[in-house]
Amino acid sequence: MSGLKPFIAANWKMNGNNALISEFAQQFDAEALSDIDVLVCPPSVYLERFSYQVAKHSSAIAVGAQNLNENDSGAFTGEISTAMLHEVNAKFVIVGHSERRSIYGETPELVAKKYNVALTNQITPILCTGESEQERDNEQTFNVIAKDIDAVIELCGIKSFEQGIIAYEPVWAIGTGKSATPEQAQEVHQFIRSHLAKYDDEVAAGVRILYGGSVNEKNAAELFKQNDINGALVGGASLVSEKFMAICQNAQSNK
Ligand code: PEP
Repeated sequence: MSGLKPFIAANWKMNGNNALISEFAQQFDAEALSDIDVLVCPPSVYLERFSYQVAKHSSAIAVGAQNLNENDSGAFTGEISTAMLHEVNAKFVIVGHSERRSIYGETPELVAKKYNVALTNQITPILCTGESEQERDNEQTFNVIAKDIDAVIELCGIKSFEQGIIAYEPVWAIGTGKSATPEQAQEVHQFIRSHLAKYDDEVAAGVRILYGGSVNEKNAAELFKQNDINGALVGGASLVSEKFMAICQNAQSNK
């Protein structure tokens, strides 16, 4: 970690229920983690319940969505807007998660539109980017990531990363139990920062870059010791409050 406030985010994906929200409400002691930012992104139908049961009682824990629509309102069946997120007190949104890109065909350009609509409506976007195993084997990692980031720069400008957050999530590490090594992750995080620095040094130095991909309570500490890793986006291990709490505590002690 490099002096930026650590940021630990939970992505529940299509998991969780009322019981898990109650578990977080009863057991999650975010007040003890005053030096880090903590975010939970439950499925959208649970945003309001999570906001009121957990976040309302702990100003240290924020609530975010896993996706949003790039339009403000209208005939987009099944979609949610930034105005709706504000109404349920969600202040963050994940955009371009690899599952959205690979299963739902979201392109870098569409993801950039989602990033833009979030930012312009005061919702902080977390831009996910990462290479597949094949892309890594073909030495395409940096190209894939630069393409995702450049789509945002083209639409929103480099200064848009003053407010946004980036999550490096190698696709081969998501949900597989096979995390990137701290050195592999650091190499890519450093690349992301140096790529942004080509446009603006200050923005590059100030943006928080999270690592995501099989982070758990055992491997978190080593990841957080890396200079350019400013936190984590956690999937599976965020579904058990003690495990997620242990990851947060690791961030707090390695800040
Ligand atoms: C994710 O869903 O963003 C993720 C990183 O999942 P996991 O921690 O389960 O690999």
